[in-house]
Amino acid sequence: MKDTLTIALSKGRIFKDTVPLLQTAGIVPLEDPETSRKLILDTNRPEVKLVIIRATDVPTYVQYGAADLGVAGKDVLMEHGGQDLYELLDLQIARCKLMVAGFAGKPLPEGGLKVATKFVNCARHYFAGQGRQVDVIKLYGSMELAPLVGLADCIVDVVDTGNTLKANGLAPLEHMADITSRLIVNKASMKLKHEPIRDLLAHLQSAVEQRNPQ
Ligand code: AMP
Repeated sequence: MKDTLTIALSKGRIFKDTVPLLQTAGIVPLEDPETSRKLILDTNRPEVKLVIIRATDVPTYVQYGAADLGVAGKDVLMEHGGQDLYELLDLQIARCKLMVAGFAGKPLPEGGLKVATKFVNCARHYFAGQGRQVDVIKLYGSMELAPLVGLADCIVDVVDTGNTLKANGLAPLEHMADITSRLIVNKASMKLKHEPIRDLLAHLQSAVEQRNPQ
């Protein structure tokens, strides 16, 4: 019997951009997570299943081996820490930037900076690297609101077009990291299921190269 492969994906842009890549490896989901309530999706290949979970949970499922593989943004991976998993491939999808944002033209306070974010580890690491004292406030969404209501001086968030910041009177201030989504694998799965994973990786690698010629 063929090795089973479980791939963890989040709904939305990651699912939409990953499906065409999986297709090049002959893997086609039989249902669309936007219309199905199922959390485990079958594919045309009986041994390959997709689990549909929150983006921030993808590294955790892969870390514990509940999924062999996953697709997660570099922001999510940096925040998670990447224990017990390997980053196999930059899929070059869901491109954005991790940024410090605040009021345009208003310098951030030198000391006692209040930072609102869901990326608390990334924020602590970034400001510590600059020797800046910060008070990091954990939020789960709508970070842009925090400076507007005086909860924080700035936010750390992912930015694509910058339209959401602009609509709220904010601007990008400091670039922290370029973000794309990565194929990740559980370390034990990589050893135990080496062949199907290597085969999938080769297909994805050539699909990514074709879509993003150097
Ligand atoms: P923007 O295009 O900058 O207005 O981004 C729209 C919203 O989507 C913002 O709230 C961002 O935090 C979020 N966002 C943009 N790009 C990504 C991405 N690649 N992954 C996850 N969230 C994103």
